Amino acid sequence: MKEKGLLIVLSGPSGVGKGTVRKEIFSHEDTQFEYSISMTTRSPRIGEVDGVDYFFKSREEFEDLISKGKLLEYAEYVGNYYGTPVDYVRQTLEDGKDVFLEIEVQGAKQVREKFPDGLFIFLAPPSLSELQTRIATRGTETDELILNRMTEARREIELMELYDYVVENDKVEKACEKIKAIVQAEHCRRERV
Ligand code: 5GP
Repeated sequence: MKEKGLLIVLSGPSGVGKGTVRKEIFSHEDTQFEYSISMTTRSPRIGEVDGVDYFFKSREEFEDLISKGKLLEYAEYVGNYYGTPVDYVRQTLEDGKDVFLEIEVQGAKQVREKFPDGLFIFLAPPSLSELQTRIATRGTETDELILNRMTEARREIELMELYDYVVENDKVEKACEKIKAIVQAEHCRRERV
């Protein structure tokens, strides 16, 4: 029988660099995970492409997906919905491939309930002030949004203990290497049984 894939969940506060770390991981040729592209009702940022960065949806479309049970998890975050397509995740795991989710912490909590044996990794900022600098210098947010994201970030950091591993995102390349090593170790641990 084919081994099922591993569900890898990378989470942590917005602005910590989850997207950058994820893109770096997927730029490595030897990366074997499948990235699950999320759905969102947020408007695309400059340079973002539908079906690559996100599947961009209207609120009506998103709520229809919720009511039809098409999302593994979803959360409303700073005024927009974000969610993970369930069919893609289940099918890819069945096919024996590892699936990588990059999601905020409310969603990660829901995934933990449905996939208790997933691998949950929390990406932590070196400090809260460093996080605020990162969000502000991204230049995509208004002052009010920055404040909202910082309030959210403080709440998110309190949930760190629910994770299997905490990786500090001091240097992107170092964080990527640690995440890949964790996944490799997890496979070795599970294959032993
Ligand atoms: P952004 O608007 O900066 O792209 O994303 C905002 C937050 O939503 C980030 O923390 C990001 O990781 C998270 N996010 C992206 N996709 C999903 C998803 O499918 N589900 C959940 N719960 N959060 C997501």
